[in-house]
Amino acid sequence: KPELLIITSSVCTLYTREAIHLLGAEKRVGVLKLGTTWPLPPKLVKKHLSLTDKILIVEEVVPFIEETVKILAAEEVREIGIKTFYGKNDGTLPMTGELNPDLVISALSKILNIPYQTMAPEFEKKLEAVTASLSPNRELTFCPGCPHRASFWSIHEALQMDNRKGFVCGDIGCYGMGMFPCGFNVIKILHAMGSGLGLASGFGKLNAFGMDQPVLAVCGDSTFYHAVLPPLVNAIHHRANVTLIVLDNSGTAMTGFQPHPGLPVNAMGEESPGVDIAGVCRAMGAKVEIGDPFAQTETRKSINRLMEEEGVKVLILRQSCALSPEKKNKKKFEMRVEPSKCLGDECSCNRLCTRIFRCPGLVWDKEQKKSRIDEVLCAGCGFCALICPAGAIGREEAVNQ
Ligand code: SF4
Ligand code: SF4
Repeated sequence: KPELLIITSSVCTLYTREAIHLLGAEKRVGVLKLGTTWPLPPKLVKKHLSLTDKILIVEEVVPFIEETVKILAAEEVREIGIKTFYGKNDGTLPMTGELNPDLVISALSKILNIPYQTMAPEFEKKLEAVTASLSPNRELTFCPGCPHRASFWSIHEALQMDNRKGFVCGDIGCYGMGMFPCGFNVIKILHAMGSGLGLASGFGKLNAFGMDQPVLAVCGDSTFYHAVLPPLVNAIHHRANVTLIVLDNSGTAMTGFQPHPGLPVNAMGEESPGVDIAGVCRAMGAKVEIGDPFAQTETRKSINRLMEEEGVKVLILRQSCALSPEKKNKKKFEMRVEPSKCLGDECSCNRLCTRIFRCPGLVWDKEQKKSRIDEVLCAGCGFCALICPAGAIGREEAVNQ
């Protein structure tokens, strides 16, 4: 029978175990780690609640487990008796910000009356400053060889050439970085998963009020199945003028390549019928084109053409993620910057590749005043050879292909 029961889950279990260990409170505290937080396993929770009178709930974000456990405890009060709860609602743990072992230690030391000196605020500040000074300064960017960088490059070019102040509504995935310089700041609105096309279809009706800016939306293939089907139905039903670009990298890249319904395999690794994005969009009544983001000119032309047309148009830009098992550590092209052709800082280039395109596989050699390929980082996608205005970046089919 522990003096205190801690109910927790996920990463908070590690904070809890560390806190108990540092306070030497192993014999006084019991831990119930929940694998499933909704619905609660009522028998398991009730069994543990009946062992003690004091319960601390350690969880991130809102006090969800805390409130559901309290409801269960109220329903079972005749059998398990009256309990005292500690958690976010009574201020034992903070309601905002992330938890950490220090916060759990501070809560435990108060409940169990164990003196413990947590890190002094001045020391914590110093530690943060030292850590920041030692960390390399890295910008948020797409991986080398990422097809999204190529897609956003072409979208950006198409919008520039169209010259009607067209804009892109984004969605949630790696490609959300299209709102940063690595995506040429192409995304102007980023709200929530599935909201990109939803918002775009609303903007795509404003032509009735005189707006003539082309409206685009981007989503990933995984997001398409997850959250873009309802706004696509809405856009088609309401005859919105919108171009949806599906950045299809053949997987759920941002969270670790989990399969999605477009693939011929399900989450159990079994063969499954893949649901074809193009077929679904055509069946709904959208005009569909399929392209390769690494085919720069064709992609740019497709986007310009589709922006001119009325109704819902879908362009699927298909190229698997640079980190996918089929591509990782395999270069399609061997790349080289020819120093005699590289213009560098000179007018009409102004370091376009390293200053604007900014693939991490390209580096600016300050001493030579030329760009060069970083052999280790370059994924050999070959795209930068298409953007150099001086034709200084060369590519040759790699022999390992
Ligand atoms: S080929 Fe160019 S764009 Fe592709 S990964 Fe290498 S440096 Fe980057
Ligand atoms: S490689 Fe091409 S784009 Fe890059 S600095 Fe040289 S000339 Fe400019």
